[in-house]
Amino acid sequence: MYLLILLCVLVAQSTFSFSPLLTVVSLALSLIIIIVQINLIKLLSAQKMSRSDLYIEMINLRMFFNTIEMFYNLMRKDKTKIRQDFVEANNLIITKTGKYRAKDILILLPHCLQITDCAIRVTSELDNCKMCGKCDVGEIKKISEKYNIKTIIVTGGTIARLKIKSLKPKLILACACERDLVEGIREIFPHKVFGIVNSRPEGPCVNTRIRVDTLTYAINMFLDEA
Ligand code: SF4
Repeated sequence: MYLLILLCVLVAQSTFSFSPLLTVVSLALSLIIIIVQINLIKLLSAQKMSRSDLYIEMINLRMFFNTIEMFYNLMRKDKTKIRQDFVEANNLIITKTGKYRAKDILILLPHCLQITDCAIRVTSELDNCKMCGKCDVGEIKKISEKYNIKTIIVTGGTIARLKIKSLKPKLILACACERDLVEGIREIFPHKVFGIVNSRPEGPCVNTRIRVDTLTYAINMFLDEA
């Protein structure tokens, strides 16, 4: 799909004789995309990545996404799908970074996960949740206690960044919408973030849901039980 877009740009340029500079830029972008694609394919077969490979891949992915995002912005296309692809590709890289102790993992949740008619303040302290079952916060609190993993609910990106700065987790399991995940993953680089996209049955930012089994699967995948 992405290569197709670039191919179209190249064809358009040759057809309409755009400037040589644009042709060079397009060719350079195509080259970057091909290199990133090849590297990502190589990743699928690798068991674990070295620290330097990890950073190179993270930077590659960001360059790749920025390029695609630029085209989508120009064409005013909906970016949901490419954001999902970015999160999935980033997750693929993160799964190659090894195992983590429970104390080094942080579960990061958005406040829109809490049902709107619950008056309990869970953003200050998750322990306040009465686990009544009306929203997914209670189930996640149970998981957090079971695995002894710190879990926080934040009201926005600024609070999230401050918490990450003070808690210094080595791995963040972040649940949010595609847009917030992409922004968060890019902003807090080089922190390692495994993203879980929420569902929004009532529209964005209200009474959102998380697949708790996906979160449990991610914990089991990363947790070093030694
Ligand atoms: S599980 Fe119940 S008590 Fe906990 S945040 Fe949701 S609605 Fe409130």
